[in-house]
Amino acid sequence: MDYSQFFSAALNRLHDERRYRVFADLERIAGRFPHAIWHSPKGQRNVVIWCSNDYLGMGQHPKVVGAMVETATRVGTGAGGTRNIAGTHHPLVQLEAELADLHGKDAALLFTSGYVSNQTGIATIAKLIPNCLILSDALNHNSMIEGIRQGGCERKIFRHSDLAHLEELLREAGPDRPKLIACESLYSMDGDVAPLAQICDLAERYGAMTYVDEVHAVGMYGPRGGGIAERDGVMHRIDVLEGTLAKAFGCLGGYIAGRAEIIDAVRSYAPGFIFTTALPPAICSAATAAIRHLKTSNWERERHQDRAARLKAILNAAGLPVMSSDTHIVPLFVGDPEKCKRATDILLEEHGIYIQPINYPTVPKGAERLRITPSPYHDDGLMDGLAEALLQVWERLGLPLRKQPMAAE
Ligand SMILES: *Cc1c(COP(=O)(O)O)cnc(C)c1O
Repeated sequence: MDYSQFFSAALNRLHDERRYRVFADLERIAGRFPHAIWHSPKGQRNVVIWCSNDYLGMGQHPKVVGAMVETATRVGTGAGGTRNIAGTHHPLVQLEAELADLHGKDAALLFTSGYVSNQTGIATIAKLIPNCLILSDALNHNSMIEGIRQGGCERKIFRHSDLAHLEELLREAGPDRPKLIACESLYSMDGDVAPLAQICDLAERYGAMTYVDEVHAVGMYGPRGGGIAERDGVMHRIDVLEGTLAKAFGCLGGYIAGRAEIIDAVRSYAPGFIFTTALPPAICSAATAAIRHLKTSNWERERHQDRAARLKAILNAAGLPVMSSDTHIVPLFVGDPEKCKRATDILLEEHGIYIQPINYPTVPKGAERLRITPSPYHDDGLMDGLAEALLQVWERLGLPLRKQPMAAE
């Protein structure tokens, strides 16, 4: 039997659909974010990164790097095993306390990644609630969908952020059925924000539990970086908040925070927590440093919002099809997978600008786009250069410009 043919055929399908992904070989330069080195097929090139989820550049912050180096030097690299075997190393204890405090919850539980926290967290919560019905937003991240699937209970999908539809499903389920509403606070492809206060209203009215993924908001929103729920004053009304340490906090790891008994039950039952080695102490110390810094420093958050607003204005004034967004995400509409990929290839090769194409299945077919995430460190000069390069690419690929810039938001 020729087993290779199965894999080659699978790859060919992706090539045929123009969905085969190529990853650039990049090397970030600490202290010079967002500048990086691209190890291109033709040699090393300097590039500017425009699509990092290290939204605030915390991955190169001296306090964060310093904490990682100091801890690794003092206690070594690995955690030495699962927490069941190795116990919990002290930096991890401190990190979980920091996270519980960030969200105003009794406790927090750390996982290998945000993906794993959703997958094993939601699955475990769902399994511990008899006859649970999960109401899931249509645009939830794959990690939540996988968690819901593994939870094995019934699930219904409500139209994206559609309160009337959610209410209809809650009413249908009746007051006696246990219900879990699962959604995100900030959807990272369109940059829109969920109506969390109204979702909490509905949850309270119909007796549902709430689980909110704040991955694209922690560190960046709220007076202490607690996320959209903190900003909107509803943190205490949400049962479980989930977040990542890998985006605005610049490290690695995911977590859930909530009431003591929920967190303790997940700790005790979740296979994706129990059977895997804990994150290394140095990573935990670095994440703690990032969280602590962003609890008191508003400079990054304010500058981040300022930069996003500025970039939207510049691109919009140039007639480029910026999609409206109330957040730090700046999506630029392309609407064609081939041109989307071509545009990013030209940007990288000819302009030293790194932006990933966002194609199906990350977004629906026909909604292909460039997703730009300016950080506090993208200055006006870089933005003007980006607009210039985009205009050239738009012309070359025959992509339409707006005749009339959108009215300012
Ligand atoms: C990135 C992402 C995750 C996964 O977080 P990682 O820490 O990168 O594993 C979960 N939810 C959403 C909405 C995400 O975008």
